[in-house]
Amino acid sequence: MAVLVTGANGFIAKYIVNDLLNEGYDVIGVVRSQAKADLLIKQFGGNPHLVMEVVNDITLLDAFDSVFQKHAKEIEIILHCASPLPSEGNDYEKTHVLPAVNGTVSVLEAAKKYAAQTVKRVVITSSVAAVMDPAKHDGSTFILDENHWCPLTLADAHGNSHTAYMVSKTKAERAAWEFLEANRKEVRFELATLLPVYVFGPQLFKEDAVGGLNYSNGQIQSVLCSSPGGELEDNTFKNFVDVRDVARSHLLAFQKAGAAGKRLLLCKSLYSAQDLANILNERFPQLKGKIAEGPNPGKYDVNSVVTQHFRAEEILGLKYKTLEESVYETVSQALEVGLRT
Ligand code: NDP
Repeated sequence: MAVLVTGANGFIAKYIVNDLLNEGYDVIGVVRSQAKADLLIKQFGGNPHLVMEVVNDITLLDAFDSVFQKHAKEIEIILHCASPLPSEGNDYEKTHVLPAVNGTVSVLEAAKKYAAQTVKRVVITSSVAAVMDPAKHDGSTFILDENHWCPLTLADAHGNSHTAYMVSKTKAERAAWEFLEANRKEVRFELATLLPVYVFGPQLFKEDAVGGLNYSNGQIQSVLCSSPGGELEDNTFKNFVDVRDVARSHLLAFQKAGAAGKRLLLCKSLYSAQDLANILNERFPQLKGKIAEGPNPGKYDVNSVVTQHFRAEEILGLKYKTLEESVYETVSQALEVGLRT
């Protein structure tokens, strides 16, 4: 039995591949180019249980046909992680919505066409973005849960790539549930979607941190690269979860019967830029006096608001890493590769 992982070279997906291999699964990883496939093979030491395939355009509705034509008999689980993160552009339909939505539908269509009776579970990496509703944000008292759907459309984006990302993730997740509803009699698989908040943590392979951290760790990098007395970039409250917990959740979401048919928010706690500055200043004496301290040094906001995202903890049995552990390990690795001297 094999697990198909799309976007296998991503920050989160590398940990998923690693966990799968450690648990004895055969993995079929999909990336966008042969060079990316070769790098992954090399990084995983030529592990014979990892096979790489290239799909260079996931927006084509038959994008994954070739992968299933080759591997349909082996694939029992699909973990669909590939999707664009926020990035600047002027055609968000093309750069964000199409890859997110068509990428999701094309992998589901291929499963239906070639492995309708043998694929057992599909897990989609959605996002907290798919439940957020900025109009309802009510300071610290707004509680997100899995019953919400983000109501935004591209008309709300006005050049904002975060909004475009939210729309793309919402549409992609909806497309997955709608696909299942429309094809329930024809496919055997169950669906689970995972909705992580901001994902922090070290890169699985140290070399991937060289030259700069990935999108979500950018929040930590901006504090790490701040100046003494400088403003913290964004001091609003956000939610955090560690990459290793997110990866683990992808395995549990197909291993646990109770995850079938569920949307599961993955969230450890709130954080603010002040919390990040506190951890960096307190845990890394070598940074003291070189980076910003923030307006309220030493005042932690992490536990000031109660958040309710207990479904994943209950169903998957997760015990999340703390913000301090995650940030400490991320920064230790960043310092090791010379991101800040
Ligand atoms: P990465 O950017 O590291 O990984 C994204 C993966 O998706 C890469 O393999 C990338 O391939 C692929 N991808 C991006 N755009 C396209 C496209 N247009 N066509 C095909 N493949 C594409 O990000 P993460 O690991 O952080 O994210 C993985 C998943 O987790 C995504 O679905 C993201 O939305 C979701 N997520 C991430 C959060 C976070 O804080 N990091 C929070 C919530 C959800 P390539 O390397 O070729 O670009």
